[in-house]
Amino acid sequence: MHLPPFSHYQPASIEGAVRALAEHQGAKVLAGGTDLLVNMKHRVELPSALVSLSRIAELKGVRREGEATVIGAGTTLKEIQREEELGRKFPALVQAARAVGSYRHQTMGTLAGNLCQNTRCRFFNQSWQWRQARSLCFKAGGEDCHVIGRKNVCFCTYSGDVAPALLVLEGAVRVQGPQGIRQIPLAELYSGQGKSPLALGPSEVVTAVVIPEASAGRSHYEKFALRGSIDFPVVGAAVWRGDAGVRIAFTAVDRAPVRALDLEEALRGQELTDAAIETAAALAGKVAKVAPTTVHPVAFKRELMARLFAKGLRALR
Ligand SMILES: Cc1cc2nc3c(=O)[nH]c(=O)nc-3n(C[C@H](O)[C@H](O)[C@H](O)COP(=O)(O)OP(=O)(O)OC[C@H]3O[C@@H](n4cnc5c(N)ncnc54)[C@H](O)[C@@H]3O)c2cc1C
Repeated sequence: MHLPPFSHYQPASIEGAVRALAEHQGAKVLAGGTDLLVNMKHRVELPSALVSLSRIAELKGVRREGEATVIGAGTTLKEIQREEELGRKFPALVQAARAVGSYRHQTMGTLAGNLCQNTRCRFFNQSWQWRQARSLCFKAGGEDCHVIGRKNVCFCTYSGDVAPALLVLEGAVRVQGPQGIRQIPLAELYSGQGKSPLALGPSEVVTAVVIPEASAGRSHYEKFALRGSIDFPVVGAAVWRGDAGVRIAFTAVDRAPVRALDLEEALRGQELTDAAIETAAALAGKVAKVAPTTVHPVAFKRELMARLFAKGLRALR
């Protein structure tokens, strides 16, 4: 499969990247390319230009800023795994980075690329030839969502491994665009729309992830995938435990990663006994709008949500 034609820019600064995005309508950011280039080969994403972040040194590395750990957006998933302090303070983040795809996805794939990856669906993530057999789905430019059989709606599922870990760590993203720099809680990066899943302006770049030191401590990420060596999660669950209670988040169950506030509330003030975890687990499948965007039945995914979060909590006892 060949890439479609596109222009390529390699600015040396974040300002240069923002400028290049603003000057070229239809341009997209290119980080490791492990998600975007595959989608371009499948002709489901056709940016006119790619603005590579590979020459921007300030997007790399981990540093301390006051009461927060700041990780550059261009830090690779492998580099995150090699940072011993991250492993000690934020185990769920490192476990999630280790769970992504294969060795090559982790050495090329970046933190922001993982968070900003496109949503997925069995009708969308297919070759051009495969998709010729029926009308284009809404996300690919047609009218209908083939998953739920309705017009002008898209249930494509967010399937990134790292986002749920950062949700339970109450991480934020720093974003730079033509209007300046802003910092938003990670949950606000996601629009909740399958078709355009990010709530970013067209010329905005994620520059860093910020994790409060208060989240350092006990956290865990559990993933179920069909192939251990290389696969997206069928479902992933992250959990965090601290004095304030537990935090729980899921991936691969809805159009955005989901923080399970109802589940957290059900466990508030309780000891994490088997009975308490099992009672809460019965609620797990209700915290997301699971759609049949993969070959796995919805009921199976709901069951996985209950089991993975329960397994994660047991690991933190
Ligand atoms: C076979 C296969 C298996 C995979 N398995 C997994 C898996 O198990 N788990 C998982 O989570 N992912 C998986 N992936 C997806 C992908 O490899 C990873 O998510 C990877 O971390 C993406 O990072 P990247 O740097 O390569 O992103 P890119 O492909 O470069 O970018 C992805 C998207 O993010 C945008 N973007 C990148 N950086 C920024 C930024 N700084 N600011 C704004 N937007 C930005 C790009 O414009 C693009 O839309 C898999 C992919 C393949 C092909």
